[in-house]
Amino acid sequence: MTPSFVHDALPQRVVFAPGAVERVGEEAAHLGLGCALTVATPGSGARLGARIAKLLGEKSAGLHADAVVHVPTAVAQAGLAAAQAARADGLVAVGGGAAIGLAKAIALKTGLPILAVPTTYSGSEATPIWGTTEGDQKTTGRDQKVVPRTVIYDPELTLGLPPAVTAASGMNAIAHCVEALWIPERTPVTLALADEALARFAQQLPRAVADGSDKEARSECLVAAWLAGTVLTGGTGLHHKLAHVLGGLGLPHAETHAIILPHVTRFNLAAAADARGRLARALGADDPPAKLAAFVQDFPIPKRLRDVGLDKARIPEVAKQAAALGIKAPRPVSADDAAALLTAAL
Ligand code: NAD
Repeated sequence: MTPSFVHDALPQRVVFAPGAVERVGEEAAHLGLGCALTVATPGSGARLGARIAKLLGEKSAGLHADAVVHVPTAVAQAGLAAAQAARADGLVAVGGGAAIGLAKAIALKTGLPILAVPTTYSGSEATPIWGTTEGDQKTTGRDQKVVPRTVIYDPELTLGLPPAVTAASGMNAIAHCVEALWIPERTPVTLALADEALARFAQQLPRAVADGSDKEARSECLVAAWLAGTVLTGGTGLHHKLAHVLGGLGLPHAETHAIILPHVTRFNLAAAADARGRLARALGADDPPAKLAAFVQDFPIPKRLRDVGLDKARIPEVAKQAAALGIKAPRPVSADDAAALLTAAL
């Protein structure tokens, strides 16, 4: 088929090295920040946030460690108020997708530049996608303002990521890449990056889950996470749309992605021969959905949607919302199709 595509490259500086977090002050200065608010989740995120704020020294406007997954609107408003009260001229988001998501919500309203220090494999740091949640509805959008201008990847910060979070967030990143293989917006760049990230994860994610202190596996997974986030910028399809609706119902983000991925993949690969071939090669598996299902089985994560709180009675409404999106590629999705997928994953 003759190639036909549009590829948007994001303006972003990426610094990757063991110990790179020590350069956060230097990188903040490179961005022109003089008064940066550090944004993190509570607990271990807050401890790392305090370390970063200390490293920022006189360029620190304090620490706001109240980030929550899926960014409830009240949490976003509190973050905005904290940034305004501190007269921050930038944000340093440290942690997983929850911390980066809160920084994005603040940047969306203020235009403040973000310096991200990711410590999971969510990939949010590499995308212009923001999201907030109100009640059981999640709203997402795209805006160049929320793209972190600089990302510091320090694999040493991930050595303490628990096996369950490592596995779930790695599967979330794998989902970005799998979906990239069949969406109509795919480009030669996103396909190449998806292949590369999938191959790295297939080799190294089981090692990082088995032994979090394996520095080589941690580094390889973090590189793969960056590539996967870059790939996610290309677009999303049935997999991410279903996860989005389920996330709005309060299901945990990364775990939900992991559980539904083998089911959506089996459904879509039936109509996507090229994606099937690429995925088989990258994963080193003749039956890619079975390989993804084996990851879910072997990793210390929930296996079924019922385990993460989906009530069977809500399947028809989720399926209806998915069908209403009118997804056509790589195959049309009816409400019955979506309900069958969700029931299998339940
Ligand atoms: P998370 O940010 O909630 O982190 C999971 C848990 O791991 C938290 O308890 C956190 O404190 C802890 N943690 C993080 N790093 C750690 C470390 N190095 N050591 C020990 N503990 C650590 O989860 P996530 O999966 O990273 O992110 C999920 C969120 O990101 C969701 O809100 C999702 O919607 C969003 N997301 C957004 C995009 C995007 O492009 N906008 C992409 C992917 C995910």
